[in-house]
Amino acid sequence: MRLISLLNHYQHFPGFVYERARHCASNQTIEIAVRPRRGSRPVCSGCDKPAPAYDHLKPRRFEFVPLWGCMVVLLYCMRRVDCRTCGVRVEAVPWGIGKHQLTKAYMLFLAHWARKLSWQETAVSFRSTWDKVCQSVEYVVQWGLEHRQLGPIVAIGVDEIQYAKGHKYLTLVYQIEQQCTRLLWIGRERTVASFEQFFILIGERLAGQIEFVCSDMWQPYLAVIRERCRQAIHILDRFHIVAKMNTALDQVRAGEARRLARDGYEPVLKKTRWCVLKRRANLTGQQRFRLRDLLRYNLRTVRAYLLKEDFQQFWEYESPSWAGKFLDDWCCQVMRSRIEPMKKIARTLRSHRVLILNYFHARKQFSSGVVEGLNNKAKLTMRKSYGFRTFHITEIALYHALGRLPEPDVAHRFF
Ligand SMILES: [Zn+2]
Repeated sequence: MRLISLLNHYQHFPGFVYERARHCASNQTIEIAVRPRRGSRPVCSGCDKPAPAYDHLKPRRFEFVPLWGCMVVLLYCMRRVDCRTCGVRVEAVPWGIGKHQLTKAYMLFLAHWARKLSWQETAVSFRSTWDKVCQSVEYVVQWGLEHRQLGPIVAIGVDEIQYAKGHKYLTLVYQIEQQCTRLLWIGRERTVASFEQFFILIGERLAGQIEFVCSDMWQPYLAVIRERCRQAIHILDRFHIVAKMNTALDQVRAGEARRLARDGYEPVLKKTRWCVLKRRANLTGQQRFRLRDLLRYNLRTVRAYLLKEDFQQFWEYESPSWAGKFLDDWCCQVMRSRIEPMKKIARTLRSHRVLILNYFHARKQFSSGVVEGLNNKAKLTMRKSYGFRTFHITEIALYHALGRLPEPDVAHRFF
């Protein structure tokens, strides 16, 4: 039979033979019976060593990669072995693992598609279920985590992300070197204790080799980095500083809009939110027009906006000392502005001056947009599915999407 010879070609296991295939048209399933090759010895699932057969169990079904829109199932009577070290145990079979109903090849197949489509779409496309897709991703991720190589690590970025409807935080640690950008670790919460776990995972030797750490201004992260990566240059991420500044500007704008409305002025700030928050180059024609109009008024929002825009220059500097001078001048100017949210930013920048200027000490070594890019990808991964409500599932989904994990070897890839 054709199918059998194809299977023997692409998915050959020395100790087993495909016996016969049966197509069942009513439920569009192809059943393939498998039996042990005569004279082959079963392998103990406890210790992976050959052992004498003891008895065999009822036929078990293993779902294989679908063909021609049909479900393909391997039928096999698992043997039990009488192992000298483990006692009576079920045998290990090369196409499946443990109690999984899916073959390794099929799990790899589903997990592959689950990286491109949402888990639900994957389940629908291959007439499987969300749970099976989840199992598959879990298997691939677990295997990958066990087999990945962690070091050497030169540069890391740490960031937080909200999940579970924004009530909880995760701490994500990325490796951000040019040759290797990947998610290294995910922890619950964003506390000192959780971030410490990452350093426990990689051990002191690898931690001691880290040269650059990129983070936001979250105190617990700063504390852990100070403690665990003394030798590294610690950089405050540009993207977080810009984000903070935008938040401050938005506060100014919202406060002022309310005040104008209350005092019965013309609502000049209406629909200006994105005009002032977006970078000038990204504005639409309409927004550019509104902005030009807005800049004619003597408003706090306008002054805050100009301060923010002015700060863009900071990132252009080459030399840390000139950048430092600019930073000091800018902060002085802001402190005189009497715009409280902006003053708060200036105070923050002042207190983190050293770490901010490290950006210029390290900028040649790696690109700082990497953390932002990875973080956006992480958010996208979480948005793509409504099922990631638990920590565990969120964790495997993120490792799957961003971890660049090695994948289990199978005889043949069906995708
Ligand atoms: Zn054993």
